[in-house]
This record gives sequence, C-alpha cells and structure tokens, in this order.
Amino acid sequence: MLDKVVIANRGEIALRVLRACHALGIRTVAVHSTADRNLKHVGMADESICIGPAPAGESYLNIPRIIAAAEVTDAQAIHPGYGFLAERADFAEQVEKSGFIFIGPSPEVIHLMGDKVEAIKAMKAAGVPCVPGSGAPLGDDIVASTRIAREIGYPVIIKAAGGGGGRGMRVVYTEGHLSSAIAMTRQEAKAAFGNDQVYMEKFLENPRHVEIQVLADGKGHAIHLGERDCSMQRRHQKVVEEAPAPGISAEERAAIGKVCVDACLRIGYRGAGTFEFLYENGRFYFIEMNTRIQVEHPVTEMITGIDLVREQLLIAAGEPLSIRQEDIHITGHAIECRINAEDPDTFMPSPGTIKRFEAPGGPGVRVDTHIYDGYRIPPNYDSMIGKLIVHGPDRATAIARMRIALAEMVVEGIRTNIPLQQRILADGGFQHGGQNIHYLEKRMAEKGRD
Ligand code: ADP
Repeated sequence: MLDKVVIANRGEIALRVLRACHALGIRTVAVHSTADRNLKHVGMADESICIGPAPAGESYLNIPRIIAAAEVTDAQAIHPGYGFLAERADFAEQVEKSGFIFIGPSPEVIHLMGDKVEAIKAMKAAGVPCVPGSGAPLGDDIVASTRIAREIGYPVIIKAAGGGGGRGMRVVYTEGHLSSAIAMTRQEAKAAFGNDQVYMEKFLENPRHVEIQVLADGKGHAIHLGERDCSMQRRHQKVVEEAPAPGISAEERAAIGKVCVDACLRIGYRGAGTFEFLYENGRFYFIEMNTRIQVEHPVTEMITGIDLVREQLLIAAGEPLSIRQEDIHITGHAIECRINAEDPDTFMPSPGTIKRFEAPGGPGVRVDTHIYDGYRIPPNYDSMIGKLIVHGPDRATAIARMRIALAEMVVEGIRTNIPLQQRILADGGFQHGGQNIHYLEKRMAEKGRD
C-alpha cells in the first residue's frame, strides 16, 4: 500500500482525495499557494507545503515545485485531481522520471488522448463509434476540406485537435462559411492551445451528453460503472449531472460499457477514466476521453457504492482491480448540482468571505465542499465551491431530495448559483428527463425574454 501521497490540487477535490487517503491509512501532503493557506484540507493534511504565489502558473501548475514537495516530504505518489496538471502528459512523465508514482494512466496514454484527432483514430481502431468526420487534421487545401464537408453533410463543426474546456470550436451551416471558419478556428487554436491543427466533425443538432465511467488496473482487467447524463450545460460547461441517464436501457448500458472496457484493454489504460459521448437517436458517438477523476464522479459512486478515488489509490499502489463487472449493480438514482460562487443571473464570479454556511442533510444527501464559516474564497481560481449530491430509490425521489437540500443550504456573504439550480430542478423539462445539451441555454434565453 502507498505510505504518503502529495495532493497536487486545491478545493473540494483536494479534500476528497485527502479523505480517501486517510480512510486507507495513507498519509497526505497538501501543496498550496499563498492564497490557499486556509483551505480546509491544508489544515487536515499530515504535512503542508506552500509552493508559490496565488497565480496558478506559479503554484498549482509549477511542476518543479510540486515534485520538490514530494522529494522533501519523502512521499511516494502524486494525485493530480482534475484540472491543473491532471491531463498533462509531460507532468506525468516528470513525476515518473523523478521516481514517484503518478496516480493516473501512463504519460503515453495521456498524450494519446490529449490529441483529439489521434484519440479518435485510436478509438475507431478499437471499435468505439465516433462522430462522422475528417478522421485527420484538415490541410490547407480548401477544395479537399469542402469535399469532406459535403461528404459528411452540413452542418459541420470545426474543432481544435488540442482543444479543451469547451473552447476552440465553430459550427458551419453552409459551404460559403467553411473556409473562413477553418482559418479562424486554426488561429484561435494556435493562440489558445499552441497547436493549430483542426479537424471536422458532423455537427449533431440535438444530442445528449452521456459518458461512461471506467476503472482499469493496467494488468489486463477493466470494468465500467455505467453512465452519467451531463446534458444540462451552459457554454459547454456542465451544471447538473445525473446517473443513470434517463431512458438508457440496461442492454444499451451493457453494450456501450463493453465497447469502452475493450478499448481500455486495447490501449493499456490504467486508473479511472471517462469516455464522453454524444447520444442522439439511440446512438452513441465518441467525442473524447478524460484520463482523470471527474467533477461529477460522485453520482456514479452513489448508485454503485464504489469509492472511485479509493480505487484510483489501490490501482496506483499496483493492486489488481478486485471488482468484477458482475459486482457492479446500479441502485436508484443520483443527481449532482455544482455550487458556484457566482451571480445566478449574470454568471459573474463572486469571491469573498463566507459569513455563514449551513450544509443540508437527511437521507441520501452528500455535500462535497471545502467551504466553512469565515472561509475567504480567493479570486484566483475556478468559481466552483462545492457539489451537492443526492441519492434516492428513483429519479423523482432524488429530485425531491435535491430540491429540499437546495432550499436548506445556506451560503451567506457571497452570491451563489443556488437560485439557478433551484429553477432547473423545478423545471418541467428537466423533471421529464432526457433533455439535450442545448436545453438549459434555450430555457435561460426564454426566461431572459419574459
Ligand atoms: P472539450 O474538450 O473542449 O470539452 P468536447 O469535444 O468534449 O470538447 O466537446 C464539448 C461540448 O461541445 C460537447 O459536450 C457538446 O456540447 C459540444 N460538441 C462537441 N462536438 C460536437 C459535435 N460533433 N456536434 C455537436 N456538439 C458538439
């Protein structure tokens, strides 16, 4: 078993990793910026080290400082959480070269999945259904690109091979706009991701976002833990997630799950991972793989009873995966609301001091957050301050419990998106279930016109 782990992250996920470590008897090292001395997990960790000033580039993204923290504390492994360095192949490589265990897949697999064109190629070869598309980076020859677009059929979407975070994409509805869209996306991609390669896909007009959670030990054994529906999005960012996805049958789940498991074995995947799909007219289309733990992992934990971070730690310690596919049973329904420090109408970040915090409770309620009375949210990082997760025997009960929990939750001193979450949970379309990725923005635009 691992003896000591460096948690190379902050906020709720750092606390989540710390709890999983301590439950296994693993000691923890918190690394934090000067703005984060008061983070909850920093006070709970066995050791803590300040790795730099508030800007993430000088602290949470500072690879030499994080590796030095592992060296001086004599830790064995580094958990990257999500965001920051979690999907940086060069970080995983330097961690391993320095003699530490990176809690995640190999640098080669992270690199492969980080280039979306290469990832799609590898997934196609592994039998994973993908969105019809160029299958390769677009060249400078507009005649060739025009031919590809005609074959795929409009509308098409131009995407950056190195893109992420919902940025670097442009939809094209007519041939007259194709050439300028390619040029503009290329320019943006180069500026934002340092990689000007772009590719083309069919633009699916009414898909849902459905993703499959996997666990693999890198020793020939992999399982899937069913799907999550993350279609409630604003600007390609997830707002509410749930599991299982409304309307997906056990047969569909088993079939797409097996495709993902087979792909994991084929690429030599290790650790927790997520295959993201668009789902339209009963068909799955792979868009990308996330090679890390995800924000929305708790909904899967609630319906399967599996602690995904614990499994990440066991796999990193070199243990074979002890869970078999037939051990996975889906019980009830879980929903997660992301709680952000932001104005619920304008979405402007709202950092500041939390004057009063009261967590909701009751059957099936889980609160993953690092905030507490008097905690000051620094303005330097993502606005997510926690996640409210509920579980119930069925979806209607989960919705009812979430509505009560949102009403019970008190966060004073800053603005939060709790009122927006309440509106979503009260919405007839959401309650019906199975809405597509455009639904939330469409409803918000309608409300704006009221
Ligand atoms: P990122 O890595 O930036 O998150 P993704 O490839 O995962 O990029 O796509 C993010 C979101 O963009 C999807 O959840 C979906 O809303 C939209 N999207 C991406 N590709 C397509 C497509 N081919 N058709 C329709 N929507 C798409």
